[in-house]
Amino acid sequence: MQQLIGIYGASGFGRELLPLVREQYPEASICFVDDGSQDEELNGYKIYNYKAYLGLAPKDKAVVIAIADSRIREILVAKCSKDNIAVLSAKASNSIVLDAVEIGEGSVLCHFTQLTSNIKIGKQFHANIYSYIAHDCVIGDYVTFAPRVSCNGNIHIHDHAYIGTGAVIKQGTPDKPLIIGKGAIVGMGAVVTKDVPAGAVVVGNPARPLSK
Ligand code: UDP
Repeated sequence: MQQLIGIYGASGFGRELLPLVREQYPEASICFVDDGSQDEELNGYKIYNYKAYLGLAPKDKAVVIAIADSRIREILVAKCSKDNIAVLSAKASNSIVLDAVEIGEGSVLCHFTQLTSNIKIGKQFHANIYSYIAHDCVIGDYVTFAPRVSCNGNIHIHDHAYIGTGAVIKQGTPDKPLIIGKGAIVGMGAVVTKDVPAGAVVVGNPARPLSK
């Protein structure tokens, strides 16, 4: 039976993921799933809300989550697993993954992303275009990279951290990795030279906490 893949999130990132999913899963039929959209179609593909999607005829259904907000991704993963809907990973054809890289389920690696060697990544990681991760990094669950993040070697990024476009993170060392704490936000273009505490928002060069 033909699989029906729902790209969850009919917005900007959903439209960006569509060609990638189409290329990776050529046998599948594709639609969008969105709980807020008023439209019926996007870029030539049907949009259903989640309830309507569940009611569609194909039994073999799966989603790829195309939403940058990691807390929403976590809620949607829980909802889909309750309904036995698989959450698939998506990897662009020119994304490079070198050696001894472990990645959890539901990850999205967009075009021109590069993961080098000896890297461990949790579930639902999103790496937008041109981002890279170098050797010996450890990335938690639900971490999000905007486009062109430069994540050098020996960096640990904890769950739900968000790294903005063009941020550069200085390498750590094997005995003292640079740590980005849980839920931290690194602003676009930031140059991170030291640890970022959990929940902090840092911006600038060198990156400093955003003043309240
Ligand atoms: N969305 C949804 N269900 C949810 C939360 C969000 O379908 O529980 C949809 C929302 O309607 C929107 C999309 O996800 O169309 C998120 O789009 P947004 O532009 O915020 O994110 P981006 O595409 O930049 O990740």
